[in-house]
Amino acid sequence: MTHPKANRSSAAPWLGAYLLVVTAPMLLLLLGGSSAPGRGFAWDFSMALGYAALVMFGVQWVLTARFRRATLPFGIDIVYYFHRYLAVCALAIVAVHVGLLFLEVPQALGSADPRRAPAHMTAGRAALVLLATVAVLALARRRLALEYDRWRMTHWALSVTAMVLALWHVFAAGHYLDLPWKRGLWVLFAAAWLAIVLLVRLLRPWRLSRQPWRVAQVRPEHGRVSTLVLEPAAGHRLRFAPGQFAWLTLRHSPWSMHEHPFSIASSATRDDRIELSIKELGDFSRTIKDMKPGETAWLDGPYGTFSIDHHSDSSGFVFIAGGIGIAPVMSMLRTLADRGDRRPLLLVYGNRAWDRVAFREELDQLQQRLDLRVVHVLSEPPAGWTGEHGLITQDLLARPLNSLQAERGDREYFVCGPTAMTQSVEAALAALGVDARRVHSELFEWV
Ligand SMILES: Cc1cc2nc3c(=O)[nH]c(=O)nc-3n(C[C@H](O)[C@H](O)[C@H](O)COP(=O)(O)OP(=O)(O)OC[C@H]3O[C@@H](n4cnc5c(N)ncnc54)[C@H](O)[C@@H]3O)c2cc1C
Repeated sequence: MTHPKANRSSAAPWLGAYLLVVTAPMLLLLLGGSSAPGRGFAWDFSMALGYAALVMFGVQWVLTARFRRATLPFGIDIVYYFHRYLAVCALAIVAVHVGLLFLEVPQALGSADPRRAPAHMTAGRAALVLLATVAVLALARRRLALEYDRWRMTHWALSVTAMVLALWHVFAAGHYLDLPWKRGLWVLFAAAWLAIVLLVRLLRPWRLSRQPWRVAQVRPEHGRVSTLVLEPAAGHRLRFAPGQFAWLTLRHSPWSMHEHPFSIASSATRDDRIELSIKELGDFSRTIKDMKPGETAWLDGPYGTFSIDHHSDSSGFVFIAGGIGIAPVMSMLRTLADRGDRRPLLLVYGNRAWDRVAFREELDQLQQRLDLRVVHVLSEPPAGWTGEHGLITQDLLARPLNSLQAERGDREYFVCGPTAMTQSVEAALAALGVDARRVHSELFEWV
């Protein structure tokens, strides 16, 4: 979760815009008038909730469309969390929409038997069942051991189908859509939703397809990490801020939805050679070491706000990394070194064992080029280890942080590692008196 100081003030207009768009249907109901008479409060309120939920579901697509300007004030991980919780809220609103009718105006629901019910009512019911399925699969993906790519495709297909059915339900039911301008607004809404779907699934992949990358090298690192070195195959460039990430597609076309997010680990001073350091974790990451030079890759990026470049006025930086959480930190350190930056830096780097510490030799070299102190922390130290050991706790962090003395408050803190580590480090930093606005975290697992 990032708290980019420079952009925090611009979050309010986006939140305001969201609330306005979602409440617009209710406002229109109140303001717009209708040629048909109202059917009582329960009916009107139920319709307003139905419309608001439909808009919320439509906006869900905007949230995951990776619009850089809209995600910048929050960080893309926060936007994905927002997407997740708003889906549950929207589903609850649909349940109230139906529940109110069931309790107060049951004749409006008619028969649930699809053979006797009007098609648009069956479409509405089917949309509700599909959306509930989407929510359950998303919330229980891990427990159900669903493979990520397969889950994502199912999520997408069910959501598109549900949205089409919901739009059919609304247009065919036609409640409060009798005035042409109101109907026009809903046509506009449906068109905007479709445009976003086409942009994300067709236009963006088409743009990516024109900018292929070529695997130049696959470099093994300690700790079952492979660094994939990519060069542009069409003369294009990827300008990024150190610490940002990109979605990588390998062995599939850019239209395939087989993409995985990885931090760019290389120096931001080079936009013609991108390095991604990938730890073997699952089906996809295990295949990186088998990639061959010359194979094609696709990169959608850069994204994210986890970067020193959002805090260029800071007097120094503290990095706290666990395992492969070092990848975005390497990008920031390499960039600082290439820029000849002399600000004081501290890296607290946790790993299980010494032979798993990725980039440990390069970190030694970086200490010569930077005013950098590296504190290695091992949870399973070898015999004779005299450095820090155990987990990265408050007590452990207090030691190197106390030596920063007065400057401590002026620094920005970057935390990246397993979710449990990140959360406990955030709590430890708060207990040590570090202002939460100076603590920036990147989560590698969003949902
Ligand atoms: C912003 C960000 C930056 C990251 N940077 C790095 C990095 O520099 N190096 C590195 O090794 N790992 C990084 N990761 C994690 C990496 O994306 C996952 O480890 C990888 O996608 C796992 O895929 P898999 O099929 O090998 O493993 P699986 O076992 O299939 O997945 C393990 C977990 O990774 C997540 N995941 C899997 N596929 C995706 C996907 N397509 N999109 C989003 N999440 C997914 C899911 O939470 C899943 O439960 C980053 C993740 C994020 C969100």
